[in-house]
Amino acid sequence: MGVIVIKAGREKSLHRRHPWIFSGAIARVLDKPAAGDIVTVINERDEFLARGYWNVKSQIQVRVLTWHDEDISADWWRSRLRRAIDARSAQNASASRLVNAENDYLPGLIVDRYGDVLVLQALTFAIDQRKALLAELLAELTDAKTVYERSDVDVRRKEGLEQAVGVLWGEEPPAQVIIDEHGVKIAVDVRQGHKTGFYLDQAENRHLLHDLIAQEIRPHNPLSVLNLFSYTGGFAMHALKAGGVRVVNVDSSHEALTLAEANVALNGFDAGAHTAIQADVFQYLRDMAQHDQHHDIVVLDPPKFAHTQQQIDKAARGYKDINLNALKLVKSGGYLFTFSCSGAITRDLFQKIMFGALEDSGREAQIVRHLSQSVDHPIALTFPEGEYLKGLLLRVY
Ligand code: SAH
Repeated sequence: MGVIVIKAGREKSLHRRHPWIFSGAIARVLDKPAAGDIVTVINERDEFLARGYWNVKSQIQVRVLTWHDEDISADWWRSRLRRAIDARSAQNASASRLVNAENDYLPGLIVDRYGDVLVLQALTFAIDQRKALLAELLAELTDAKTVYERSDVDVRRKEGLEQAVGVLWGEEPPAQVIIDEHGVKIAVDVRQGHKTGFYLDQAENRHLLHDLIAQEIRPHNPLSVLNLFSYTGGFAMHALKAGGVRVVNVDSSHEALTLAEANVALNGFDAGAHTAIQADVFQYLRDMAQHDQHHDIVVLDPPKFAHTQQQIDKAARGYKDINLNALKLVKSGGYLFTFSCSGAITRDLFQKIMFGALEDSGREAQIVRHLSQSVDHPIALTFPEGEYLKGLLLRVY
């Protein structure tokens, strides 16, 4: 087995159980490990520190699997997977994230469940190498009929991997998997949809929107809900379920909006209460600023603007721009759900950006709730990078 010797003075992050080892922390590599191999990590005094997997091509050359001197066998993978799956079993949802990579102490592996279809993303070389075994173990541990791979993500290039898509275990998945999210039916396209098919991380925030409408607001007239960056209309469906609303979904993706229409029909909601607009949200918001149209609730859930630390300033300007314009569209006494899924934008920074947008808008706002990713996307306490989705529910005057 390959052995990785950590430089003196660079052990701290390992003692703190951060799972990433960068090339700069490595003094020597012994016994020539190949990409994907299990390696033992030791210090200059020959003491065992951790065991993980190796990839010289990646900036993160070792990802730690365990801090114990144990074998990384098929049984080891099975028990780690079982632990992650068991942690979700009480949630009793038809769709959930089963494995959240580093946060479930399974670096590089994402597994989402949509009914009896599991979707796997292999983000690293070592996981890619073991995906057939992992798919088999997942099938053994769940009642899945299919394990489908959606490793069509750019980060794989950093590991020297091409994109990979297709059935790993079992039968072809259906064209659409219908999931039930807090009583709302959603059609998920696991082959072509974004990420693994759906944005499961927003499930609780979508449910919160439902509750806000159902419990807190008692309208005389239909409430108007503007759902910006709607994807397949998840937030809008929960608003429609609460009732007494008119919703507008805005997204640049024609396919996503077509699925949003299908979701309205699937739930038997009034098609007249739903409008889909295919547009660039930046442009749409600028156009709307010219009109005197206001909404009771605006949801703003953009894609990731900052992919790296270097992109933070530009991303911050983007968030400020759309939030400034979105704030202007909220009726006095209405609400704004606003999000950032950029890991590089911290919660603090996001709040500062919102402060700046509010100042320029001339409006007033209160934080009603801090919002986060759903419970099936836990964050390992030793891995702050795991916290990426942050949001605010604001009441705007
Ligand atoms: N709120 C959604 C998830 C949104 S993901 C849900 O609950 O499921 C972000 C969405 O933004 C994607 O659907 C993508 O198609 C869309 N998008 C990205 N850039 C856009 C732009 N400039 N204008 C409009 N939509 C955009």
